[in-house]
Parts: sequence; structure tokens; C-alpha cells
Amino acid sequence: MEQLKNFKSSHLHEKLRLSDNDFDAWLEELGLLHGKRTCGKCGGRTTIKVKKDRRYGCWRCTTRDCRAEQGYLCGTFFEGTHLTTKQIFHLSYLWARRLGKYTDLEFLWRKRFGDISNVFYNFWYHVSLFYPCERNE
Ligand SMILES: [Zn+2]
Repeated sequence: MEQLKNFKSSHLHEKLRLSDNDFDAWLEELGLLHGKRTCGKCGGRTTIKVKKDRRYGCWRCTTRDCRAEQGYLCGTFFEGTHLTTKQIFHLSYLWARRLGKYTDLEFLWRKRFGDISNVFYNFWYHVSLFYPCERNE
């Protein structure tokens, strides 16, 4: 997450050039997508099961009597969107940069989220608190 502090548009464009899979792997690293997932039913281990013709597979429990499945984006900030994770990330950057220009919003923002000079970082930091993801260490 610290990587998003003082995130410049050159950093953004470097990330947007990644393939969709590499981009999502980076979001896993940041803790914005699940790097691994514990089964919500039995607490067992899960692995990714690929779905044919779908962008995302799902997390499937490896316990023989369980095999519960959960969508890859389920429970994350990105769940239910029709945009790609990359598009959302790009939009959030444009939004944060614009918001950073309105000084009259600064007081309200600071009260809620902290220093306005790092709107982008603060936004994603709060997302990671609201949508905690398991990391693959
Ligand atoms: Zn299970």
C-alpha cells in the first residue's frame, strides 16, 4: 500500500501497461484483491478454479466434502462491477487528482481521511480497511 504514496501519473501508466493478470497480481500484493482465500464454510484451503469463457475463476475449497466456491472478486471492493479492475483504478486516480484541487473540500476531507495531498493513497488505504483481503505470503 505504501507504493501508492506520492503515486505519479508516470507510475500509473507503468501499471496500466501491465497485462490484466499481472495488474491483478499487483493488486493482490497491495492487499486489494485476495492473494489466497480461506474457505468461508469449513475454514479449509482454497485454490483458483478457472471458469471457461470468464475473465475470473473462483476460489474453490480443497476439502473433499466441502468444495464450496466463492467468486474471485467476491467480498472485495471490485465485486459486482462491469468495469475491469484496471479501469476502476484509473478512474480513482483521475478522481483523486481532481479532488486534490478543491481546497474548500480540504477541511472535510482531512477530518475524515487525512491529508489531502495524498487523496489517492488515503482512498485505497481505506478501501483496504473496509475490504480486508488475505495475502499470499
Ligand atoms: Zn470448505
